Amino acid sequence: MGCVKKLVGACLVVVLVTFLVELLILGIQNQRLSEAGDCAKEMRKLAQALILYSEAYDDRYPPARGWKKSLLASPSAERAVLQDDDFACGAKSGRIRFAFASWMGSVDRSTIERPEDTLVLSEYDGDVISTPEGILDRFHHGRVAIADATGRTRVVTAGAARALARAAKTH
Ligand SMILES: [Zn+2]
Repeated sequence: MGCVKKLVGACLVVVLVTFLVELLILGIQNQRLSEAGDCAKEMRKLAQALILYSEAYDDRYPPARGWKKSLLASPSAERAVLQDDDFACGAKSGRIRFAFASWMGSVDRSTIERPEDTLVLSEYDGDVISTPEGILDRFHHGRVAIADATGRTRVVTAGAARALARAAKTH
């Protein structure tokens, strides 16, 4: 009888530990997801500033080279209350940037066929997205914040962001 009790006790402990570990993993995953979610919220201001910029400049995005300077120097920056630290991921102390897709430089927004599927901004290892492959899985554990040509931002997997970037690049 005693050893059955011990066995049941041991099983209960294993179940409890497994449950706690799963709870912990879930907690970490949720925290990582919310990190990327916060970045999507932060990126919205930048995405809106780009829209405001294009409205002031014949519907065209700024040139990719020096886009940050062009944006900060434009009236749209003031209207969007844009500051220097609005260009970086808040969760990773600036190591990850909110980068502009190089192939969207000076593009006329009115010519974009599917703006909701056209990646304009993404979290990236620099200020300008030169290649889709630079959107890395390690940013928010496989997720990144992006903005499309409508100015909306969202969290997607890094793989999906790379696919969107490739599609936009070839257009
Ligand atoms: Zn981030």
